[in-house]
Amino acid sequence: MKTKQDTLAQQIIACQRCPRLLTHCEKVAREKRRMFQDEEYWGRPVPNFGDINAQLLIVGLAPAAHGANRTGRMFTGDQSGLWLYRALYRAGFSNQAMSENRTDGLVLKNAMITAVVHCAPPDNKPSTEEIHNCRDFLKATLAQARAARVMLALGNIAWEALWRELEAEGEVARPRAKFAHGVQVQLKSGRWLVGSYHPSQQNTFTGRLSEGAFDRVFAACRELLKSLAPG
Ligand code: SF4
Repeated sequence: MKTKQDTLAQQIIACQRCPRLLTHCEKVAREKRRMFQDEEYWGRPVPNFGDINAQLLIVGLAPAAHGANRTGRMFTGDQSGLWLYRALYRAGFSNQAMSENRTDGLVLKNAMITAVVHCAPPDNKPSTEEIHNCRDFLKATLAQARAARVMLALGNIAWEALWRELEAEGEVARPRAKFAHGVQVQLKSGRWLVGSYHPSQQNTFTGRLSEGAFDRVFAACRELLKSLAPG
């Protein structure tokens, strides 16, 4: 039987709202990177990954051109994903550290991953209009992910997008809290919004984000979940 999550995934995959992004995804999929010449790229919008009943909801920016746009799974097939999935594994939110493709056996535990935009943008920079276009999917994801007690924003754009939705829900009020690595904001419902630097190469190669600092964010998420557990 088709679930609401399946329906949302199908809607995301079939979405045609951003011509610039769709053209880019298809072009990248056609031209390919030399090392992936033998692979068939996904080349379309990428759906959410993980359990809709999870208590940890992670919000990234967008699929990477040769990462999720190639493999069809969020954060899979690029350096950012290697960082993220290693950290999730160390924190007990997945069954394995390795992430390669959609059939690698990776299962998230009590975690789900979504993104501000579901199509790979040129230079990893979606326009304001494209972020706006994809807002309905973030809204729908938040509406479905009712068990999410901690929402983790990877980077400032995800922070702003989540804040916008939570403000619309009456969960937070203005002024918007400033994004920072490790920042935590408790929502009116008692749930938590947490910020982390995005594990992009821009941050990991420059040392702005270390594995230790990334691990501490997931350890904090786990502690917050524990503190919210009944009894
Ligand atoms: S970014 Fe979002 S709104 Fe735009 S085409 Fe992709 S899925 Fe649709």
